[in-house]
Amino acid sequence: MNNFRYRFAQFMSGRNGTDELYILMIVIYSVMLVVNLFVRSRFFSIIIWLWLILAFCRFFSKNVAGRQKENAVLLNIISRFRSGKFRKDPNVIKIKKKSKAKKKAEKYKTMYDQRKTHVFKNCPNCKATIRLPKVKGEHTVCCPKCNTDFKVKIR
Ligand SMILES: [Zn+2]
Repeated sequence: MNNFRYRFAQFMSGRNGTDELYILMIVIYSVMLVVNLFVRSRFFSIIIWLWLILAFCRFFSKNVAGRQKENAVLLNIISRFRSGKFRKDPNVIKIKKKSKAKKKAEKYKTMYDQRKTHVFKNCPNCKATIRLPKVKGEHTVCCPKCNTDFKVKIR
């Protein structure tokens, strides 16, 4: 038995062996086996076999650098999931926030600049801000965005 272990260790030296991706592939293999107990498809069985062969090819591969690269992709995905940043790239959000705040500031500036000639009202349906000429009285306004009619009193 010890002799076998020694031989196996010698055989495995310089080969990829077990890594996280290998474990994941074996887990997926086991899940597929269980699924196939219910599906019982010959085509699916072949895919499961090919999947297992692929896992073993990675296991016995001598291109360790290449296999480590594959495993690094998986580890990167796992770490992103753990930190909750998988879909949210922090840089993207920062840029978005900035431009939104800027747009708002610009909007309030035009509202302030035109406060004597225009009135700004929010559409009750879509909340869009609508610019109206400052004409006293009660008016019916049609929102250009959602075509909703609503009444506006301008004093
Ligand atoms: Zn509207």
